[in-house]
Amino acid sequence: MADKFDVIVIGAGPGGYVSAIRAAQMGLNAAVVEKWISDDGKPVFGGTCLNVGCIPSKALLEASHKFVEAKHDFDDMGIEASDVQMDVKKMMARKDKIVKNLTGGVAGLLKANGVTAIQGTGKVTGAKQVEVTDKGGKATTYDAGNIVIAAGSVPVEIPPTPLVDGMVVDSTGALEFQETPKRLGVIGAGIIGLELGSVWNRLGAEVTVLEAMEDFLPMVDGAIAKETQKLLKKQGLDIRLSARVTGSEVKGKEVVVKYTDSKGDQEITFDKLIVCVGRKPYTQGVIAEGVGVELDQRGFIHVDDQCRTSVPGIYAIGDCVRGQMLAHKASEEGVMVADIIAGHKAEMNYDAIPSVIYTFPEVAWVGINEQEAKAAGIEVKTGTFPFAASGRAMANNATEGMAKIIANAETDRVLGMHIVGQHAGEMIAQGVIALEFGSSAEDLALTCYAHPTMSEAVHEAALAVDGHAIHMANRKKK
Ligand code: FAD
Ligand code: AMP
Repeated sequence: MADKFDVIVIGAGPGGYVSAIRAAQMGLNAAVVEKWISDDGKPVFGGTCLNVGCIPSKALLEASHKFVEAKHDFDDMGIEASDVQMDVKKMMARKDKIVKNLTGGVAGLLKANGVTAIQGTGKVTGAKQVEVTDKGGKATTYDAGNIVIAAGSVPVEIPPTPLVDGMVVDSTGALEFQETPKRLGVIGAGIIGLELGSVWNRLGAEVTVLEAMEDFLPMVDGAIAKETQKLLKKQGLDIRLSARVTGSEVKGKEVVVKYTDSKGDQEITFDKLIVCVGRKPYTQGVIAEGVGVELDQRGFIHVDDQCRTSVPGIYAIGDCVRGQMLAHKASEEGVMVADIIAGHKAEMNYDAIPSVIYTFPEVAWVGINEQEAKAAGIEVKTGTFPFAASGRAMANNATEGMAKIIANAETDRVLGMHIVGQHAGEMIAQGVIALEFGSSAEDLALTCYAHPTMSEAVHEAALAVDGHAIHMANRKKK
């Protein structure tokens, strides 16, 4: 094995493995170091996303949604499916199989692209040096023309709710329950908390979500967040806002949680508790003292717009640097730095990164929302279209939600798109493209959309920006 590489990437999550593949495609001699290890001693690729994040959560969300559909919605469609039963263990086994297929697929991709995979824990020991300690404790030093740190993130733990095996768990533990808890508590109404809460709510748990903040999904457009809260409540999620958890205690087979809300101190008992209060960068021990890579106060590696750290030749990407903690953001940064290392000009548009909450219906957004526009003093016009007026939504039995477009009042340029509705995560790509291409709401309005599709709601929302939606009475006064 060569001990000198043009680029060594530390961490093989969606940031790191994508960066290593791109670097190899650009003609560089690339290696990726991964410490995650399988029972048979091989490196496990894919990081948080493939192993304990995006993919397993979506496998469970899809399966649990199908269960709810079969149990409650089929009848309405004229399908008799009596005695629909769930088998949680089988659902978990399917999820594990998908993860295994994908992580194995990444191993194949790395090999096919000529990336050297190194099992072990990587540490930057110099501006051009990485030390890797393997599973047996043996340390090897590699020379690197450039280094990309893609060490990712781990769940935040808070003092009031220390983890207790199988009872008080983080997101990883919540993907492993082998049966549905009767009473499930979720701390944190962020993306992960709502997704995991939805899975277990659909599978029969009584789910209570305790959220310290007063506002529900403050990063989402107000109208969309309000609609989402209403829909999730209708499904049985008991979302308590302004509820700050102050303590928890495992008593036998129960977890007693203390929290404070506007009425004072409260107590609630669950069978299991999921702590989803955010994630923090995983940078401990990745950089040796004296290398000079600066971290910020919250432990993120400090980088510029092109992911350069304070040391030339060392880059950092993904969850361990500022910005949204999203797989596709990590991957795009991975591509950008590989291109820069290969001598190309590259940059990213951080204003056009979509976010999706994979509840049912899905919530997806890109760009700014109406309240942000207002706070920034940008005059906007908006167009909204409800799925209740969409023929395809009716056919799909998915009439809940709406699409909303925010455009600059003067130039008509699209500034944001926010959707709550079935397949919102797929539809939001239109908003991303609109932002990337600098398109106007009129450009979307003049585009021909296939009928009948859910995306027609985006078309109608674009038409509604000027008060001309066809399938809705919305004429604006001139
Ligand atoms: P990671 O995926 O965390 O990968 C980092 C890798 O580096 C790990 O494999 C780790 O073992 C390795 N590593 C760390 N230190 C070292 C070292 N010193 N030496 C060697 N290896 C090291 N994002 C989305 O975009 N969509 C979703 O639907 C979504 N769902 C999620 C659901 C859940 C439950 C969770 C927890 C997260 C979800 N995310 C989602 C977030 C997403 O998983 C992360 O944003 C993404 O994985 C970040 O990628 P990364 O490459 O920066 O880091
Ligand atoms: P996110 O960072 O999007 O995953 O969301 C985590 C959520 O957890 C945030 O909305 C926080 O307000 C919430 N949170 C953090 N600490 C507590 C706490 N002690 N009690 C209730 N909610 C909390």
